[in-house]
Amino acid sequence: MSSFKKYNAKDFEEYIKNIKILRKVNKIQIHHTYSPSYKQFTGDNHNALQEGMRNCHIKTNGWSDIAQHFTIFPDGIIMSGRSLEMVPAGIKGANTGAIAIECVGNFDRGADTMTKEQKDAIVSVLKALLKKFSLSPKESIIYHAWWTSSGKSLGDYKKGESCKTCPGTNFFGGNTKKAFTENLLPLLDKAVPALKSVDKINDIVWELINAGVVTDGKLWLSKCEEDINVYHLCKKMANYLRGTL
Ligand SMILES: [Zn+2]
Repeated sequence: MSSFKKYNAKDFEEYIKNIKILRKVNKIQIHHTYSPSYKQFTGDNHNALQEGMRNCHIKTNGWSDIAQHFTIFPDGIIMSGRSLEMVPAGIKGANTGAIAIECVGNFDRGADTMTKEQKDAIVSVLKALLKKFSLSPKESIIYHAWWTSSGKSLGDYKKGESCKTCPGTNFFGGNTKKAFTENLLPLLDKAVPALKSVDKINDIVWELINAGVVTDGKLWLSKCEEDINVYHLCKKMANYLRGTL
């Protein structure tokens, strides 16, 4: 019997929210499986493909378990893999503190075209993980192609130097840092809404009331309206309290 668990995006979010992980997580690795690719996915063989990968990783590669923590299939189904308490066997030089995600498919240019279901699931999984571990997508998400095979960080895909093209030269528009920044990152930034600084009098006073600095909102609204110096002082304090100063 398979020990792998299947989730849709909503169940996954719930599962991640409630789980306790003792090891420190500070990065999320993204991979494509390359093989199996879309050709091997029949729509109902999630378990067989996952078992196949585990067998290959244990018997052929000599690893202790399947390499990745999660596999995302073309139909948007997410499947658990190795224990989250174990570091993945994903990127030499970047496994400590990592959670590894494998996207089933070959996303090199000219190969598989990613389905909308899989795209949405990848975004949902990343959002849930970023939220769970309070990570910034820009700093924590890494592509396999940004490392050499000896485990040196290149910071980008460099043809001839990178260990692989993984997660594919057409993964969300490409495997370069630029492609990540332009295509995937904007979909994730909304996960952790950036705090905006306040400049409207109503918002400023609301912030001060919330923090218990003032109690009489009406009084401070009129003070801010009447005296530009008071407005600037209150604005400064409100943004300091908000963490946007
Ligand atoms: Zn990879």
